[in-house]
Amino acid sequence: ETASNRIAAGEVVERPASAIKELVENALDAGATRIGVEIADGGKTLIRVTDDGHGIPREELKLALSRHATSKIDGTDLLNIHSFGFRGEALPSIGAVARLRIASRVSEGEAWELNVNGGKLGEVAPCSLRGGTVVEVRDLFHATPARLKFLRSDRAENQAISDVLKRLALAAPDVAFTLTDTGTGKTTFKVERHQGDLIDAHLARMEAILGRDFATNALVIDAEREGITLTGFAALPTYSRGAAVAQFLFVNGRPVRDKVLLGALRAAYSDFLSRDRHPAACLFLTCDPERVDVNVHPAKTEVRFREPGIARGLIVSGLRHALAGAGH
Ligand code: ADP
Ligand code: MG
Repeated sequence: ETASNRIAAGEVVERPASAIKELVENALDAGATRIGVEIADGGKTLIRVTDDGHGIPREELKLALSRHATSKIDGTDLLNIHSFGFRGEALPSIGAVARLRIASRVSEGEAWELNVNGGKLGEVAPCSLRGGTVVEVRDLFHATPARLKFLRSDRAENQAISDVLKRLALAAPDVAFTLTDTGTGKTTFKVERHQGDLIDAHLARMEAILGRDFATNALVIDAEREGITLTGFAALPTYSRGAAVAQFLFVNGRPVRDKVLLGALRAAYSDFLSRDRHPAACLFLTCDPERVDVNVHPAKTEVRFREPGIARGLIVSGLRHALAGAGH
């Protein structure tokens, strides 16, 4: 069990940023409105994710740390996934290669904690917590020194963590996020909750993360094709950049890095940009979960549309239409 968990861990968690992605997605799945991330030494010695979500009942704590136990789907409907999580793999995988402590409290309940160290589960014990869930991961990969060697400098790991958090925060403008380095005591990333009108909320969040320049140069995109909708923002060609750092794609709220979709983004701008200029955009594709497979890779940043031509065509035509309308 422990050995196979350690192997699985390599697929789900390859560095602190991927552990943080899993923990923050769990917090989002739990309906959190505030998510705090604390790290030390690039996340190598400490990751702590605190949320105000619905919590985990005492009797489910051990289950949450067991392989392939998920509270989110019953396993019969892998094609119809609405939550980020569905494999029940993240917590046990992290617990197999680190010291993990989870503390949680459901409303009307008491607070309980559980420790797991290198895959060995402790006993559920009472603790103190006002609500929600805290997951602490100490000494990631201490149980697998070979993996530890592949981690990069604290600075590089910090950068990867901040990228992951920004991507998740772009898709969840109604959730407040903070990232704090406990070593320096500095909060390096902080965004407030934006409620109300969704487009306004997205714009405000985008401005907070991508900067005022991007927000004021962005065209609102709103298109639909055969049941797939495309919303979001695409920058005017005049705001194009020398590097492709401002390309954010989401499928059903999930940050993705998909070659077909990124290719479509480039194709949409091909008449407006020279080869070495890159478009900037933040785009959300939404469709019936049955039409897209998010099960391609454990880390889940790839997707496979049943009809990739529709998604691609939608991006190209939706963006071209907006760009043409803006006089380009
Ligand atoms: P998955 O997200 O695929 O279900 P995980 O291993 O990430 O699997 O989490 C296992 C289970 O633990 C989840 O299904 C959920 O029930 C519970 N869980 C994990 N993190 C949280 C959290 N922050 N708030 C509430 N429940 C959580
Ligand atoms: Mg999960």
